[in-house]
Amino acid sequence: MEISLKDRVALVTGGARGIGAATARAFAQAGACVEIWDLDTEAGERLAGALADEHDVLVGFQRVDVSDRGVVDAAVASILERHGAIDVLINNAGIVRDAQLLKVKNGELVRKMAEEDFDKVIDVNLKGVFNCAQAVAEGMIARKRGRIVNASSVVGLYGNFGQTNYVATKAGVIGMTRVWARELGRYGITVNAVAPGFIATEMVRSMPERVLERMVKATPVGRLGTPEDIARAYLFLASDAASFINGAVLSVDGGVVLGT
Ligand code: NAP
Repeated sequence: MEISLKDRVALVTGGARGIGAATARAFAQAGACVEIWDLDTEAGERLAGALADEHDVLVGFQRVDVSDRGVVDAAVASILERHGAIDVLINNAGIVRDAQLLKVKNGELVRKMAEEDFDKVIDVNLKGVFNCAQAVAEGMIARKRGRIVNASSVVGLYGNFGQTNYVATKAGVIGMTRVWARELGRYGITVNAVAPGFIATEMVRSMPERVLERMVKATPVGRLGTPEDIARAYLFLASDAASFINGAVLSVDGGVVLGT
């Protein structure tokens, strides 16, 4: 199925690298005008320039920290001023700061996850999604049309060792997705989540080899996912083909089964 996003304006947060960059590329290929937000200005500007040349569409970059409400509001206003609308929001920006809750070391109980690492991950992965959805949905309601797709994770469904903060956000994203599907559906806006399995981006490649091997072993299709695997799911959910899908969590994980 050929998916077209011609004449649509799509905003991809965390779009300079990894899954976000593959998504920006897939959307530009489908004819959308793409706005990329990220913290990495050099990578973001380079990608925006390359995609505009390759696909003959408008591609913009803004350095936006999604956890900063003031910056998010101003950046949304700037897109609306330039393009008049945001049709698609891909809430993709996310970070990890892994540590166990507690650990017994030499017979002593030690607190491992630092409070600042808990707060930081909540700020970006959960509050960032809230900030962007609230700012973008205002215009979508006025136009009675929109697509919001949020990045959850397989670990948001099943939990994962050493990821208290991250799992809290990815489970929270599923909760917010289901609330907004109910609240915004009446305005022609659909809100869905994608739950990727283990995808070969820097976030995952930086993990120890033995952990990567365990991930592949737990994935029935026998490989890590690619950023493009997830980009295609975002593209489908952002398209007219998905107009009756609302409040769904689409697992894109090669059938991964998580153990203890
Ligand atoms: P990635 O390669 O680390 O890329 C994430 C991008 O988001 C980076 O360019 C990063 O910029 C940017 N970013 C970080 N904090 C930001 C902020 N406050 N505001 C704006 N941008 C920010 O990650 P990924 O693997 O592509 O993951 C993308 C999404 O999928 C995340 O939400 C992640 O949780 C989710 N996910 C990934 C996997 C996986 O296996 N990779 C699995 C399940 C879910 P800097 O690098 O400059 O910080």
